[in-house]
Amino acid sequence: MKLLIVDDEVEICDFLKSFFEERNYEVRSATSGEEALKAVEQFKPHVVLLDIKMPGVNGVQVLQEIKAKFPKLKVIMVTALETRDKIEECLRLGADNYITKPLSLEYLENDVREKIEAVTNSSSA
Ligand SMILES: [Mg+2]
Repeated sequence: MKLLIVDDEVEICDFLKSFFEERNYEVRSATSGEEALKAVEQFKPHVVLLDIKMPGVNGVQVLQEIKAKFPKLKVIMVTALETRDKIEECLRLGADNYITKPLSLEYLENDVREKIEAVTNSSSA
């Protein structure tokens, strides 16, 4: 179960990385959109947790690139004070879900597990 965490705040990446590693996920993190796109190609995650608001290439742009190249890759948007419009734009662009900060880890873990199960089942069927 491979998870890619993308957030420009290093503390959030580190925190989520240890949380999911303790639960036996293989985790990589990226602190920019550019880094995230490279990691998607190289690490080939099952699920991406993607912060919307980042300097440079933002989460919406990363989402668009991911969905263009890997339409089946599950992407969960992570957002702080975004407007409803931003979330709806991401869902329209193919995001599989979203979660708002402050993060509910229990909710997040359930959602990640659900997305990974969906991918795993469809590829083994
Ligand atoms: Mg951010």
